Amino acid sequence: MDVAGHAEQAARLVNATVLDVDDLVAVLSERPALAARVTDRDCMLVRRLQRDLDPVFRAAAEGRDAAAVEALDALLAAHPVTPRLTPDPHAPSGLRLAVGGRSDAVAEQLLAESLVGLATLVADLGAARLGVCGEPRCSQVWVDTSSNRSRRYCSGRCASRVHVAAHRARRRTPA
Ligand SMILES: [Zn+2]
Repeated sequence: MDVAGHAEQAARLVNATVLDVDDLVAVLSERPALAARVTDRDCMLVRRLQRDLDPVFRAAAEGRDAAAVEALDALLAAHPVTPRLTPDPHAPSGLRLAVGGRSDAVAEQLLAESLVGLATLVADLGAARLGVCGEPRCSQVWVDTSSNRSRRYCSGRCASRVHVAAHRARRRTPA
């Protein structure tokens, strides 16, 4: 199970604009088997997933680790996750351990993967590994699976925007 990948996918899902099936299919471009099964109901459920997960990232970003953990734990309790042995032609055993949700619906699968990915990251490395972009006009969330815990921005573009602004501010300030 790619738990780091599931945590990163959770952040991508929270950040995505999911108005219709095409939007969700675009988010799942690297998961063609899942993307092929997306329905309107999945889009509705993913928007609910976004509303549920967003407060976890906001609490972590504000340093309210206990609140982030409590919110994530409440979601785990409300949405039971089922481990499943899934065929995987690339694995030596031909199998891999995956997680599923209450039904085979794409959104339930995504929710199960998101919860397990985020919970594992928080349990292993702490709630500070979840956050919200430090660029003042950006509200995208991120997960930090790096070894040195260095992430502050959702993207390289936001990081350089902040660095350029700081550089300009320094130049305006007389020495
Ligand atoms: Zn950003």
